[in-house]
Amino acid sequence: MFTQNWGDTYYGHNISPDADSMPARRWIEQLEHYQPDLQQRVKRTVDQWNLIVRDQLRNETALRLSLESKINHPEHKPTQIPIKVVDGLPEPLIHVLRDYSEQAPTLLNEKAFADTVKGLRVANDQFSALQTLCPSQISPSDLADASGWLQRILEQLRQTDIKHRLRELNQDILGAYFFNVPRVEIYWAAIGIYAQLYSISIEGLCLVVLAHELAHAYTHWGKDIDGTTWETKDFGNADLAIVEGFAQFYTKTVCEKLAARFPAALEAYQALLQTQSPVYTEHEQWIKDHPHLKEAVRFSMIQCRSKGIVEYGDFMRVLQDVGNFPFSR
Ligand SMILES: [Zn+2]
Repeated sequence: MFTQNWGDTYYGHNISPDADSMPARRWIEQLEHYQPDLQQRVKRTVDQWNLIVRDQLRNETALRLSLESKINHPEHKPTQIPIKVVDGLPEPLIHVLRDYSEQAPTLLNEKAFADTVKGLRVANDQFSALQTLCPSQISPSDLADASGWLQRILEQLRQTDIKHRLRELNQDILGAYFFNVPRVEIYWAAIGIYAQLYSISIEGLCLVVLAHELAHAYTHWGKDIDGTTWETKDFGNADLAIVEGFAQFYTKTVCEKLAARFPAALEAYQALLQTQSPVYTEHEQWIKDHPHLKEAVRFSMIQCRSKGIVEYGDFMRVLQDVGNFPFSR
């Protein structure tokens, strides 16, 4: 279980997203057709929340993120890990989506069809009043026909196995942390597709992706009070469930901290969790209900980094041991 190395991913090999193939273009064009401002909404959310999310991550991990361009270089100064909102869909995602590109227009609008069915039911319930308000040749049976047709379409959409296949993806597909560079990319079209397929708020989902990718950057490159980081080799060799576990744990923490100001983020985190593979949900089981959960995870994370732990079983033993510490009460 959970033995795939985190580094064996497209972001471990700096592979660019696909913006030009026919399937990628079809999905993105369909997305933009109904939401022409999508890219701007994602960019605006990233710009607006970038520093706030970084502040939260710094507080929660007690790690400081700064890169030194060149040691002893006369102009060397700390720089932040760059974030870019980019076009295209990452390889693992388009690998699945290309099999459904013919159905993209309908799959992306499942919620619109479901809302229309609801609207037709309301119109049917209020038929006499609506005819008085605005006389029409439409009959109740016309409404029932339209509703029945859309319901059959919805049933067919729900029988496609696209969501089952997306759940099997064990790589970040809405954003990426290219740890060898390092830099963060946010895929606005992938966020839009997931928001549409699963009825999640775009801005909320965007914040989740931002926090998740930055959490990778903090847990990898963030300096503890001794100035130590996670060795890139160990980080890349660590089991998926360790690296994704930390990213998810701190994403949830950030969303909880920001819930009063941005409730859609925590809702998006929870909704996305329902769609993800076990490596993205495993952290929810970590020493459950422990009164000092955050401190125990933080201490275990520091241990994991300093000891070069790469196997999930070894990490879990550390977490259990730390969980048994007599934390101050
Ligand atoms: Zn991740």
